[in-house]
Amino acid sequence: AAVSLCLLLLAALIRTRRACRAESERMRSDKLRLELSEERYRLMARNSDVIIFELNFADRTIEASENFDWFLDKCPDLDSFLNCDRLHPEDRGEFDRLMREIEDNRSNVTGELRLDKNNQYAWFSVLLSSFADRPDKPARVIGKLSNIDREKREKALLELRAMTDMMTGLFNKAATERMISLSLAENPNQTSALLILDIDNLKSLNDTLGHAEGDRAILQVAATMKKHFRTTDFIGRVGGDEFMAFLRNIGSEAKLRNSVSSLVQRLSRIRFGEAGEMQLHGSIGAVVNTGADCFETLYKKADRALYYVKRNGKNDYAFYSHEMELGNYKFTGN
Ligand code: GH3
Ligand code: MG
Repeated sequence: AAVSLCLLLLAALIRTRRACRAESERMRSDKLRLELSEERYRLMARNSDVIIFELNFADRTIEASENFDWFLDKCPDLDSFLNCDRLHPEDRGEFDRLMREIEDNRSNVTGELRLDKNNQYAWFSVLLSSFADRPDKPARVIGKLSNIDREKREKALLELRAMTDMMTGLFNKAATERMISLSLAENPNQTSALLILDIDNLKSLNDTLGHAEGDRAILQVAATMKKHFRTTDFIGRVGGDEFMAFLRNIGSEAKLRNSVSSLVQRLSRIRFGEAGEMQLHGSIGAVVNTGADCFETLYKKADRALYYVKRNGKNDYAFYSHEMELGNYKFTGN
């Protein structure tokens, strides 16, 4: 009986040890699975464009996925996060609005802002969700940041393309008109000038030298205008061989006249033909605006001045004067 009791005990012991081993085996494999899953999550988070973070208002801490280390290295707790200088200075207002609204217990707030990542600002969309553990203020906020820099840049490029004349790279007609109208509305007291420039006899240049040379004439005029005017001036191609320049905050009218006159001379230096025997010319109609006129009125006035230059032999410029509206007006040069 003693022997069989011993055998029974031994068998029970073996069973228990086997069960223990199986249990620890299971725990080890669970742990491994958990570690693998954490590692997978970490790898995913590291390479993801989406950053998840949690702001804890009670103990003033912040926790985030690993792909936010570049930001948190500099702003490791909630207070430094709220004042972090990695935020684009122009987006400080937007950031403060997001934080104010979420702290006012709005359950979800969204926005867009730029953060300095590797010494370069990138656009991020922000979604904040608050957890109202307390009735007055949220104790925790879960945030999601998504890198939208590429979309933003593509959108800006498309917008720019929609504004650009493909041939010359200048603004197209619609963009030129819109920008001039906007500038006039925003700065009603500025003294500005509108110029219309039309290439002389482009039709005959096309006929004699071919359309490709005509294209080259248009490109050369565009390049000459770009060189001639300030970067703050708007220059656009508003027709086949017609260009427009809007000069803001011009100095004296005498200086402007000199500048327009020298542009006419610069255009005449553009040469065509095998030996450069053909000269290009252009005519310019201009009007000075002291604040009263809208774009359409300025355009009509500059066009009226251009009409007299064209009728009077071209290759010249004229400034609009109200006498040009009279039936017996005689243009005698500028
Ligand atoms: P004017 O001196 O009175 O300005 O006469 P113009 O021959 O220049 O003719 P106008 O300004 O009335 O018309 C513009 C001409 O420019 C019409 C067309 O033959 C030509 N043109 C318009 N767009 C293009 C273009 O993209 N390429 C080329 N090569 N020619 C163009
Ligand atoms: Mg022309």
